[in-house]
Amino acid sequence: ATAVDIRGAVELLAAAASVTVLCHVQPDADTLGSGLALGLALERRGVPVQVAFGSPNDVPGSMRELPGLHLVTAAADVRETVDLLVTVDCGTAGRLGRLAPRLHGAARTLVIDHHRSNTRFGTHNLIEPDAEATAAVLVDLFDVWGVEIDADLAHCLFAGLVTDTGSFRWGRARSHLLAERLLATGIDGARITRQLLDTHPFGWLPMLSAVLATATLVPDAAGGHGLVHATVLRADSAHLRSEEIESVIDIVRTTAEAEVAAVFKEVGAEVWTVSLRSKDEIDVSLVASRLGGGGHRNAAGYTAHGDRARIVAELRDALG
Ligand code: 5GP
Ligand code: MN
Ligand code: MN
Repeated sequence: ATAVDIRGAVELLAAAASVTVLCHVQPDADTLGSGLALGLALERRGVPVQVAFGSPNDVPGSMRELPGLHLVTAAADVRETVDLLVTVDCGTAGRLGRLAPRLHGAARTLVIDHHRSNTRFGTHNLIEPDAEATAAVLVDLFDVWGVEIDADLAHCLFAGLVTDTGSFRWGRARSHLLAERLLATGIDGARITRQLLDTHPFGWLPMLSAVLATATLVPDAAGGHGLVHATVLRADSAHLRSEEIESVIDIVRTTAEAEVAAVFKEVGAEVWTVSLRSKDEIDVSLVASRLGGGGHRNAAGYTAHGDRARIVAELRDALG
């Protein structure tokens, strides 16, 4: 595994005869927006390109207005062999899901990411832990590559920037400067944001009602900083999109008494995906790593097995 800088990544991309761009499972707007922006840039250069992700589901409904969706290829149709395979926003090979084996069919693999915990699983790795989104890494890459960021690319990149900064809640000055630059292409930032984050079907409200009834505050957990957790059962959420389920953590984490928030999402019999969020004191990526997952300092996740009491106890132990 070789670390590459932006210039090294551009050299790989510019020399590639064919490219597969892989996003992470249960794609969010950063992985898909980044994947599509890169796909469009390659397509314009006449390079055959596929964009794909390994989960069985379709493109999430909130992302159906992203430009470049014609490049999205069903996982089963992704080429077995390719000149260059690029992953975007994936901290580990496991995040590729069923497409992880494709890593072996590529002559070169370029990992583009912003997770500090990235395992550098590519032959070449462009990891910028200080970037607020993978989309921001791509802007740097396009600038060095000489790719013009037009409205279509800006739309894809803005989608990643607005979601990974919590609608600019935790972005820094450069996030706002980047947003200004993308908005200057004429894209409708308010519309894109609403489409991505504020377009839940009515059924979301009864689901929230059931989930929030499970909310529990544990003031003495997380080293005395407080933990709040809630549980999303399949019975309450089966008829809803992933967007509705993923939005729950953004409500739970606003609890003032808790430094750490957790949402346990039932995905199978005694199988849960867990979202963790923290404010200032606690690095939840370390907690998630201990439990087999990963992420960022203030947003991380992992998969847990067992009954509800067991997974709660396991998290409390890991929080110390
Ligand atoms: P979310 O709670 O939104 O699913 O995930 C929050 C963050 O944790 C994201 O940056 C995501 O990349 C990371 N993450 C979530 N689940 C996993 C996991 O199972 N493994 C790893 N390595 N990272 C995860
Ligand atoms: Mn992501
Ligand atoms: Mn990201």
